[in-house]
Amino acid sequence: MEEVSTDILVIGSGLAGMTSALEAKGSGLNVLLLGKFAIGMGTNTSMASVFTAANSRFSEADHLQATITSGKGLSQTQLVKTLVDHGPEAIEKLKGYGVPIIERGIGYTVDRPETSPQLPGVLLIKSLLERLKNSDVQLLPGLIIFDLIVEEGEVHGAFRFLRDGKPCLIRSKATILAAGGAGAIYRRNDNQKSILGDGYALALRAGLSIFDLEFIQFYPFVLAEPRLSTFIFLPPYTREMKVFNEKGEDLLKNLDIGEDLNRAIMTKRDQLSIAFYEASQKGDVYFDLTQLPEKKWERFPFNFLRKSKFPFGERPFLISPAVHFFMGGVEIDENGKTALPGLFAAGEVAWGIHGANRLGGNAMTECAVFGALAGRSAVEYVQEKGRRQGSLGPFSEILKKKWERKAKTYLKKKRGVFDHPRDLLMGLKDLAWKYTGPIREEGSMKEGLDRLTSLEKRIEKIYPATLKDLFRKRDLENVALLLRAILEGSLLRKETRGSFFRKDFPDQDDQNWQRNTCYRMEKGEIQITHRLCST
Ligand SMILES: Cc1cc2nc3c(=O)[nH]c(=O)nc-3n(C[C@H](O)[C@H](O)[C@H](O)COP(=O)(O)OP(=O)(O)OC[C@H]3O[C@@H](n4cnc5c(N)ncnc54)[C@H](O)[C@@H]3O)c2cc1C
Repeated sequence: MEEVSTDILVIGSGLAGMTSALEAKGSGLNVLLLGKFAIGMGTNTSMASVFTAANSRFSEADHLQATITSGKGLSQTQLVKTLVDHGPEAIEKLKGYGVPIIERGIGYTVDRPETSPQLPGVLLIKSLLERLKNSDVQLLPGLIIFDLIVEEGEVHGAFRFLRDGKPCLIRSKATILAAGGAGAIYRRNDNQKSILGDGYALALRAGLSIFDLEFIQFYPFVLAEPRLSTFIFLPPYTREMKVFNEKGEDLLKNLDIGEDLNRAIMTKRDQLSIAFYEASQKGDVYFDLTQLPEKKWERFPFNFLRKSKFPFGERPFLISPAVHFFMGGVEIDENGKTALPGLFAAGEVAWGIHGANRLGGNAMTECAVFGALAGRSAVEYVQEKGRRQGSLGPFSEILKKKWERKAKTYLKKKRGVFDHPRDLLMGLKDLAWKYTGPIREEGSMKEGLDRLTSLEKRIEKIYPATLKDLFRKRDLENVALLLRAILEGSLLRKETRGSFFRKDFPDQDDQNWQRNTCYRMEKGEIQITHRLCST
């Protein structure tokens, strides 16, 4: 069995992973940073740009209040305080790493010339990557983690397959999980394709609880043209832009949101998503930029759209609401520690700040703040236990044998029907969008669970003939696992709160439901309990 070792392993190369690696590296320990693609690429971070944090016009008290209000009683106050207290310092640190950041609105944004068609998030990634390359963090791109290695209640690294199909163990003294969210498990989403909830699945399989998975944030309109990648339409919107249905009815007028769509996006994002979801269930919904004045096409994001072959300036195009962000995740303390010794978590994979809905811009601040904290805690963990002395020896023969057996079960060729994993993935994504989208209700979710059961049976029968199929099968297993959790958790929550809308229970019910949902895997099954929110 192949084996590599490091002091600190960081799984995920978005903002959370990059900042934790840079922070940990300052200690002189060996740090290994990996991601599914080129470092920093294929991450949601590469599409983001806004950080909410106290600035000259927005106080820490304002930030605290706005975050708690948005969370509708389900945020973990201590974590929110940590976010708020460390926000400005984290921004300064990013600037120190060479990221061009300026103050704007209720926080900060990546500074990119208006006429540049480059995504600001890519600019952020490039600056951090430059910094990482100048440090001696070991970068391992194109690598997919299959499992965390847990022995005697402690995380000792991770398991993966090499390109030739051989199993490989990565031994680490501390591991930081920064694997992002799960938006791409939905048919309609604005996330990167590979953001399929691996982090949540890794945590569940390692025996950790994850929380509030049923709380998913939607964005009212993203590009939904079949052959184009999804693109989120961020403000500012201008009067020349129209949204209409197949009958040509102006949906913005019908919704009575007044002239200011920009404000509506901030204050009524959930209602807009629900309204556009309902409209899109009845027929196509279009966005029209044909009346946009020429000079606006020179500016972002229109200059970005113009690079596409699609004639955005000449004809209306399809749009849809979409999944944007997962509020749920792995429980951490104020230092980024999880309940499993040796494992730390940061970024969208972690839970606690956003409650029932996230305040815009808080995700990136969370990555910067908790990425650094997790990096620091991982270093302390390694140093405290005296693990620093000497390099790690190899894993024991018993452990290697155990993982060899496990690898064989993954690769075992069972006889079965051959369903193409890609079709099954689309089936799961459709199911997610239909039954656990912006509008949920008991009858349809029960139907969703039945349909999921039959898809699960088909997934079980897939025999991976190639390594690619093995990875695809793992994606399917992860997505099905999370969908089951979301469906079951959503069925139990009989109320509406934040981004979570139950058509059959349209009111917020604090008396019974100011509780966080706890998901756990026991004997391969999801178990759900609820816990009074510790606000
Ligand atoms: C279009 C869009 C715009 C957004 N804009 C903003 C914004 O302006 N402000 C804001 O606050 N938030 C924004 N968000 C949310 C924010 O971008 C994300 O929450 C944040 O970037 C998550 O960062 P992360 O480091 O946790 O994960 P990501 O940046 O998503 O990175 C996840 C990493 O984990 C790796 N990974 C996953 N599974 C595995 C595995 N099994 N093995 C190995 N590696 C793995 C991936 O390859 C990737 O490297 C936006 C989101 C989207 C989709």
